[in-house]
Amino acid sequence: MSKDQTKLVKEITSRDADFAQWYTDVCRKAELMDYTDAKGFIIYRPYGYAIWENIQKYMDFEFKKTGHENVYMPLLIPESLFMREADHVKGFAPETAIVTIGGKEELTERLIIRPTSEVLFCEHYSKIVSSYRDLPKKYNQWCSVVRWEKTTRPFLRGSEFLWQEGHTIHATENEAREEVLGMLDIYNNVGKDLLAIPFITGKKTDKEKFAGAEETYTIEALMHDGKALQSGTTHYFGTGFAKAFNIQFQDKDGGLKTVFQTSWGLSTRLIGAIIMVHGDDSGLVLPPYVAPVQVLIVPIQQHKEGVLDEANKLFNEINNAGFRVRLDDSDKSPGWKFAEAEMKGIPVRIELGPRDLENGECVVVTRYNGEKKNVAISAVVSQLPELLKTIHQEMYDVALENVNNNTRPALTYDEFKDIIEHKPGYVKMMWCGEQACEDKIKEDTTATARCIPFVQEHLGDTCPVCGKKAVKEVLFAKAY
Ligand SMILES: [Zn+2]
Repeated sequence: MSKDQTKLVKEITSRDADFAQWYTDVCRKAELMDYTDAKGFIIYRPYGYAIWENIQKYMDFEFKKTGHENVYMPLLIPESLFMREADHVKGFAPETAIVTIGGKEELTERLIIRPTSEVLFCEHYSKIVSSYRDLPKKYNQWCSVVRWEKTTRPFLRGSEFLWQEGHTIHATENEAREEVLGMLDIYNNVGKDLLAIPFITGKKTDKEKFAGAEETYTIEALMHDGKALQSGTTHYFGTGFAKAFNIQFQDKDGGLKTVFQTSWGLSTRLIGAIIMVHGDDSGLVLPPYVAPVQVLIVPIQQHKEGVLDEANKLFNEINNAGFRVRLDDSDKSPGWKFAEAEMKGIPVRIELGPRDLENGECVVVTRYNGEKKNVAISAVVSQLPELLKTIHQEMYDVALENVNNNTRPALTYDEFKDIIEHKPGYVKMMWCGEQACEDKIKEDTTATARCIPFVQEHLGDTCPVCGKKAVKEVLFAKAY
């Protein structure tokens, strides 16, 4: 390692020394984001924003394929509108930012900067829907929302973050319930197809569900430090909001009915998940399908005859084949370029020097495992699809193994407390369905119920916390 390379790498803390510091170091050194003078509000730098754009592209395609349309609602919500659904108000009031002055005048009605847009959709739907023929309405919005957080961390918890919020209304309960689970499937596939993150899917307990929802479903991911991250949620609202906002329609039988409603959201939090699931002590490690740059070509001794020509030729071939490729022909040393590529987590690096050229070969280095291979220059492009697929699959497998190795059953409450305190990851335990037991667990250990997994195991007949009859197996963990 050259001196400058050591310097770049040295500037990030190791994961085991201080995971939180490592995370912040990676966010900044990989140029994903930067801080601003408004506390809790960050800049999504081009490299970080490009990751979000790739997530957006994937999801937007899936949303539209399943009959959803994009709309855009205003940023501001009149306070009286926001107050109309009681649970919703209770859930969000503590973290709202409110506009009180417009121009130089104090406003007659205060305006809330959207923390989420349920009420705007409800109000709109109540105006445009009158018949069963108007249903379903399946709208999605790409936007940012503001939640006034006391402690913030880049991508994981910010006072403003980017997301999509889907809001749908349906004529029947069945259709709305199918929507909620269908969207959860799409969220789950984002992990499988794009991020190489195995999510655990399930239902939230009542304590953990969304303010105003009847049911909330979630995708949960496990981070390298053993903490869980809620990575996306879908909600079944029943008719709660619809009644509060009078969203009614005349059904086929002539009767006046209330719509059944859903909402679902996924945010830039996923960037945090990618960092903490795959990153290592040299920086970010990006799964190939979400990586803004999939292949970086580094010419070695580029002043020598033929090197840059060949590097440019290879760049054009890879670029024309539709991959996201960059050629670093700057005057930085190769060592610096390598370290930078590692910090930014670029999945494939191709080194090309005079000696390689003589053999008609180049060196292909894969970021996630550091492996180097000599590959015939003429074969690089044809091998790339398979290489990216293998990288994606192996990164997924490693992450899945981490989940499996760090999911432990607890048959007694003492065992539960022991595991939560000493081991990373999830603990699965039977539960009686009472919030009192969840409260006790949180107070004793800070762990929370992540979800009631769809795939249920029967670990016993009683709730280890209170001894009453158990109704479900629940996955607990400390969480972000
Ligand atoms: Zn209990």
